[in-house]
Amino acid sequence: MTLALDAPHLLGLAGALLALGLAAYLLVRFLRYQRARRYRRHFQVLWDRKLRPRCPRCRGLLGEWGMHQSLKFEKHAGRMTQVPVSFGAFRCEPCGTLVRLVDEDGFEMDYQQALTRLGAETTPAGSTLSRPNELTPGNP
Ligand SMILES: [Zn+2]
Repeated sequence: MTLALDAPHLLGLAGALLALGLAAYLLVRFLRYQRARRYRRHFQVLWDRKLRPRCPRCRGLLGEWGMHQSLKFEKHAGRMTQVPVSFGAFRCEPCGTLVRLVDEDGFEMDYQQALTRLGAETTPAGSTLSRPNELTPGNP
């Protein structure tokens, strides 16, 4: 048996491979789109439909909210010095990132404030939304 392919067969094979590649590419794009739609970004954190916070870097579930220590630079008597500061943040266990909650004006907020505002946005008092998980990005 010989595998001598003539030009029309080679063209057909190339076309089939091209179509297969295109289909795979479109499938990957669609799956990424579906995955991105699952979460909404608020306060620089991703939130799933049950208002559980997710890591913006790896999309892992953020569990532990707590106070953390860090250093910031401040100017004292004309020199920059390191000053210890504490801040509230989630720790993402899978990727080790500290994730802060920051509102649209750039101010830090704590977990309870964020939940209160998200809850107010998703379920306004006395009304029933047809799609309660649709959050409007940006404005409160
Ligand atoms: Zn993460």
